[in-house]
Amino acid sequence: MECTRCGACCVAPDIAALDKPLGLRCPHLTADNLCSVYERRPAVCRAYQPDEVCRLIEAPSLEERVRKYLALFGLTEEAEALQRRGCSSMRQARRG
Ligand code: SF4
Ligand code: SF4
Repeated sequence: MECTRCGACCVAPDIAALDKPLGLRCPHLTADNLCSVYERRPAVCRAYQPDEVCRLIEAPSLEERVRKYLALFGLTEEAEALQRRGCSSMRQARRG
């Protein structure tokens, strides 16, 4: 499986090393879905490999890919609750 640079893995999962909550776009992800800190991205991002999930979540829009990713892992409700409630890291990421 080749990475299509669809951006979903930089938006959907929570990434503790970046204090990035579930379902929120990583502040380092550029508008064209590239990593703006590629050379110094955290180990978890370096270790991430495209796999079957990338194919399963294929969709025309990033929003839809993220939705499919969250549904695949049963995280939809958690992500929605987080977005309703907000959290300090989310507010920080929004400012960033
Ligand atoms: S979800 Fe998969 S295809 Fe999309 S950017 Fe991440 S690794 Fe690449
Ligand atoms: S640091 Fe780069 S590779 Fe890691 S989630 Fe953010 S944009 Fe993606």
